[in-house]
Amino acid sequence: MNSIEKIIVTIAPTGSASQWQKTPYLPITPQQIADQAVDAYEQGAAVAHIHVRDPETKAPNPNVDLYREALERIRDRCDMIVQLTTGGGGPYGVSFEQRMCALDLYPEFASLNVATMTFGDGVFLNPPADVERAAALMLKRGIKPEVECYDVGHIALAQRLIERGLLSMPLRISLVLGVVGGIPATAGHLLHMMDSLPPNCRPNVISVGKQQFPMLVLGMNHGADVRVGMEDNIYLSKAVLAKSNAELVSKIVRIAKELGKEVATPSEARSILGLKDNSKPLPSQP
Ligand code: ZN
Repeated sequence: MNSIEKIIVTIAPTGSASQWQKTPYLPITPQQIADQAVDAYEQGAAVAHIHVRDPETKAPNPNVDLYREALERIRDRCDMIVQLTTGGGGPYGVSFEQRMCALDLYPEFASLNVATMTFGDGVFLNPPADVERAAALMLKRGIKPEVECYDVGHIALAQRLIERGLLSMPLRISLVLGVVGGIPATAGHLLHMMDSLPPNCRPNVISVGKQQFPMLVLGMNHGADVRVGMEDNIYLSKAVLAKSNAELVSKIVRIAKELGKEVATPSEARSILGLKDNSKPLPSQP
């Protein structure tokens, strides 16, 4: 593994699950999502992983206008890296094509899911030919992918994309634990996934539910980046709901500092992740 000097903290403010039924604090509209992302930035998050929701129904809705509004509202207020999801709505019947609409905004960073899997009660469809097409499109548009791996075998699929020249280095790979249908959140599984990464790949640990903080602490101790946020976990501590995403960032930053880690600024994170600083205006026509 690379020797890593700084930890990059990502905030995932809303996700695409039905969290709004479980917490009143989940941001729903692009304005609320942007506000919580910027508050999280002020607590130390360098990256915002953005899903969008239908403001009326609160359901996930990968819609280019909603993405554009969230992206612009964050960019207007701070220099944090905005990573648009291309996975949002996947388990909820939205087509692969529609999920890719975020790429029309030329974000500097976007997630890329490489495997079809059971995801909770749904099926997350990522057929190999579509994944290759999405990776090629990101490469052509200068959008850096972050590959999401929900199991060890997914890392091998990422490796295959690397060998086909569809992913450029350096590459961040998220190791996602605890999703129903993916690898369970245990220390052994996380360390095995970290040991399975291809060279030049930087791990980012994501863990859903109550194992979030234990997995993130283990990851940080082995040099990984970390993601917090209500997409993955709505609790600040046992039975205590996080009142904001910033609270979750504040907690992980406090732990990181106790462990002797430094938290990367957005510009440090851009350099570590090999991102183009995409501060140009958004295209008005996708
Ligand atoms: Zn996501």
